[in-house]
Amino acid sequence: MLIELKEVSVIFEESTDVERVALREINLSFSSNESILLVGNTGSGKTTLIYLIDLLIKPSRGSLSYDGKDPFLYPYEYRKKFGVAFQIPERQFFSEMVEQELTYAAKNFQVPFTQNDIEEVLELVGLRKSVLQESPFRLSGGEQRKVAIASILLHKPEFLIFDEPTAGLDLQGVLSVREILKKFKQNGKGFLIATHEPELFEDLCDRKVFLHKGTIFEDLRLSTIRAKGW
Ligand code: ADP
Repeated sequence: MLIELKEVSVIFEESTDVERVALREINLSFSSNESILLVGNTGSGKTTLIYLIDLLIKPSRGSLSYDGKDPFLYPYEYRKKFGVAFQIPERQFFSEMVEQELTYAAKNFQVPFTQNDIEEVLELVGLRKSVLQESPFRLSGGEQRKVAIASILLHKPEFLIFDEPTAGLDLQGVLSVREILKKFKQNGKGFLIATHEPELFEDLCDRKVFLHKGTIFEDLRLSTIRAKGW
């Protein structure tokens, strides 16, 4: 899948005295098998870009397309291709049992899964099977993050989007998130990680996009830089 943003601007509260330009004339294309690091200071537009890609907001100007199609015409088909973890995703938990929480997204997207699939995602994120019958609210922060990610993986997305995936995690948690991304990449799939701690993920990524005050300041092919030994 090819995602293309052409001359996209996002302007909040446009034409009011609190108008805020969050993204300004962004041109960005990427394939769903790329691994992208999205970096930039707080307020540079990273979360807005993720909301836009996940169709939670519309461009004020410009266009977004996937394989040449308008995602707003096929929102269900399009959104199902993404596994999106917003900041501190466990804050959105609402189920009494991990099993319900874990299967929610797949059911919502009507993606069939088996008990075996559940066990596979648990193994992938490094959670024991017995956790399924526990309350997600009683788990540690690191375990909760793993449940949130496992839930995303269960609906078999083509592309992952993680917004500050290591926020609030200890070193062990950070290493787990890295492992999950590594395995996802080994399966030929891609991801975009928005972070203000690029050093935690840079080695796993092929591309690094810098946002600065809502514009793309730099778009680096890390794989080319590595190949040339720079
Ligand atoms: P980042 O994720 O890089 O910290 P954001 O995308 O959250 O940046 O924010 C980009 C800019 O847009 C900021 O100036 C922020 O204040 C503004 N912004 C984000 N969401 C809204 C909103 N719903 N209403 C008004 N301004 C917003």
